Amino acid sequence: MPNILLLGGTTEASALARLLAKHGVPATLSYAGRTEAPRAQPIPVRVGGFGGVEGLAAYLRAARVTHLVDATHPFAATMSANALAAAQLAGVPLVALTRPAWVPVSGDRWTRVADIRGAVAALGGAPRRILLALGRMHVADFAAMPQHHYVLRFVDAPAVSPILPHHTLIVDRGPFTPEGDRALMEAHGIDRVVCKNAGGRGAEAKLIAARALGIPLLMIDRPTLPPRAEVTDPAAVLEWLDHTAVPTERGV
Ligand code: NAP
Repeated sequence: MPNILLLGGTTEASALARLLAKHGVPATLSYAGRTEAPRAQPIPVRVGGFGGVEGLAAYLRAARVTHLVDATHPFAATMSANALAAAQLAGVPLVALTRPAWVPVSGDRWTRVADIRGAVAALGGAPRRILLALGRMHVADFAAMPQHHYVLRFVDAPAVSPILPHHTLIVDRGPFTPEGDRALMEAHGIDRVVCKNAGGRGAEAKLIAARALGIPLLMIDRPTLPPRAEVTDPAAVLEWLDHTAVPTERGV
């Protein structure tokens, strides 16, 4: 009998959780615990870090996990690397459920940067009104460019106010629409958008809105991950499960 550990925190992981529940496949969804009230899920949920590679490998053994599905965000590079290493240690097969990166289309005005540091460095110069669409993480890095007014959008209200000298904070967990994001950009006079190349449909509203308004966008490229088995459709995970035997002998 399979027993899946699904590393989540994404729309794709929630879609797979629904599919696994529908097919009666035993599975547990794991959250890092960054969001105060995650959405209700149709499968059991556990919350919090495992304690690095060794911790996750120990969990896989103790919970008798037969298959590991990494459906974390493309920028959750530490978790994804740990998952691969722990799966090898524990002798558990792993597949990643990912989403293709976004590519620019006609009308887009993108500048691509390698990472957060590159995004900060690209924001030198005259004050602008910037939609910093990065969630809570990395906001403090932009204090190095204090001349701008930043519009921030967080899922939860932060315990401590962001340290950026000029900012507007919006608390909203979406889903976001191109029309809604366009109205937001117009209302706040946004003339630059900064975001990560997350890919997927859930977060692309801001790209469509920026395109419609002709607003330049700084796109942060994805971190590079070690090679691994990957699928982009939750249904393909079910096929992978069908074709991937339950391990009989576990690594030590
Ligand atoms: P990260 O930097 O790769 O991971 C840092 C640590 O958080 C990991 O070493 C692990 O702790 C713990 N962790 C991460 N994901 C976990 C999960 N699904 N279950 C249990 N522990 C987890 O990750 P991150 O970028 O902070 O992302 C954290 C969570 O937010 C992930 O679930 C991700 O899918 C979601 N998320 C991230 C982004 C983003 O832009 N990075 C955007 C949207 C959603 P231990 O080492 O102790 O095991």
